[in-house]
Amino acid sequence: MSHEFLRIWQEFDIEEVKNHLLILGDVSGDCGACRELGIPYLEARECPKCKTAFKYVTSRRLETHPGERFQIVSRLRSRRPELIFIDYDDYKRTLGRKKARDFFEK
Ligand SMILES: [Zn+2]
Repeated sequence: MSHEFLRIWQEFDIEEVKNHLLILGDVSGDCGACRELGIPYLEARECPKCKTAFKYVTSRRLETHPGERFQIVSRLRSRRPELIFIDYDDYKRTLGRKKARDFFEK
C-alpha cells in the first residue's frame, strides 16, 4: 500500500475554523482566534492566551515554500494527527470573502 496526501473538499463553518485554528509560521504558531504569536505548535493543545482548543491547523509555508508542501503536511500530520489540516490559501480567501460580505451587509 502506498500512502500519499490528496486534498479533499469539505464544507466548514469559517468562523468555527478561525476560532480553533493554529496557523504555523516558520518556527512557531499563531492563534487564529486571538492572534497570539509564538505558540509551540508541536505541543500546544490550546492557545496559551485565549484558551481556545485547537482543532484545525494550517501553515503559511504552504504558500511561501510550495515545493515543500508534502513534507510540511507529512511532518505535521505525524506529530499532530488529531488536527485537521486546512489549506492556507483556501482559508485566507474564504475569510477574505466573508469579511467583504460582512462589510457590505452592515
Ligand atoms: Zn488565542
